[in-house]
Amino acid sequence: MTTLVLHYRRTARHALNVLLGAVEAHPATAEVPVVFAPSPEAVADAARAALAAGRRPVVAWSFYTASFDEVAAELARVRDTVPDARVLHVAGGPHASADPAGTLAAGFDLVAIGEGEETLPALLARVAVGDDPRAGPGLAWLDGGGMRTSGRGPPVDLDALPPFAVRAGRIGPLEITRGCVWACRFCHTPFLFRARFRHRSLDTLARWARALAKVDTRDLRVLTPSALSWGSPDGGCDLAAIEALLATLREALGPGRRLFVGSFPSELRPEHVSPEALALLRRYCDNRTVVIGGQSGSDRLLASMQRGHDAESVTRAARFALEAGLTPSVDFIFGLPGEMEDDRRATRAAMGRLAAAGARVHAHAFMPLPGTPWAREPPGRLDAATQALLGRLAASGAAHGQWRRQEERALRMPPKGA
Ligand code: SF4
Repeated sequence: MTTLVLHYRRTARHALNVLLGAVEAHPATAEVPVVFAPSPEAVADAARAALAAGRRPVVAWSFYTASFDEVAAELARVRDTVPDARVLHVAGGPHASADPAGTLAAGFDLVAIGEGEETLPALLARVAVGDDPRAGPGLAWLDGGGMRTSGRGPPVDLDALPPFAVRAGRIGPLEITRGCVWACRFCHTPFLFRARFRHRSLDTLARWARALAKVDTRDLRVLTPSALSWGSPDGGCDLAAIEALLATLREALGPGRRLFVGSFPSELRPEHVSPEALALLRRYCDNRTVVIGGQSGSDRLLASMQRGHDAESVTRAARFALEAGLTPSVDFIFGLPGEMEDDRRATRAAMGRLAAAGARVHAHAFMPLPGTPWAREPPGRLDAATQALLGRLAASGAAHGQWRRQEERALRMPPKGA
């Protein structure tokens, strides 16, 4: 017998809700008891209670690179409090998948590599009957000091799996698309989920939107790397498909609920933003902000990061959004590999123009992510002029973001190859 303990820290909740939905839907694990543990102390309490009840606790952890050091420290606290080898600590998510060896070295028993919706229920089912937890695909573990792996699990069928855990009332964004056809050199997504789109079907999305009526959730937000890509197999934008999607979600939600598309946690590629696309968002959706992936004001840097668009398309997209009555929030990344003063000057000029027109800047410091082509590049530092400009823009509400914290965190990360 087993108990599933979810290390339910704020930044992991959406990922864990998806996994819990898969556990709820699997016939072998639908009845497994689940504990939501928001702190290391709660994880330790849940593990002790499960052991006392004769159940083997499986603790699921999911985290991004930015929180890896904090999560590793939390795991150490749990292990100190409950030093019992029957407690199985399993790590998943983008960081663990991309760096299983480093994650295991931090003290986890198992790493789920890739998508976890089939890996976790199968693992729980094995633990429940006393089988070897490692005897299934998609896992990595340490063996005699070296890492062993059962390979990467195959990509899951999104239409066959829930996007969140309705039975437990744990709702998150509705993931309409997974994977990405672009391959921006700083980004985990195409390297974790393969460089292609998998879209949930319209029928499936309507069913899940209707399921929200059963829970006390007022808003539906979609999750996708590129909101105007739904229905397209490639980098194009099929507005007929987008209208069908928006109209279907709107109708399925019914009155009194709000629909958010093109705002966090989804964003718009700048070259997809057109007056026609924005008119659809205005007609069917409730967000009055759109998030546009800009990343840099320098064409040279945009080319070197393989973004697939130029700086002018970002300016144009922001102008279209403002003309449509939407506030654009434009993402920029600072301290990118190869960044030179000319690039910084171009980005500062672009940010200044955008802010003067009424857009907001969402500022990020470059963080090298494992598994990406820029994994071994140094973390981003912001130069004094850019810091000063961001400070001025933030003071007037025209810039927001975690750039200072990201800069500090990236500098605390262990040097590559250490
Ligand atoms: S940054 Fe966005 S567009 Fe680029 S690869 Fe990642 S998800 Fe795709």
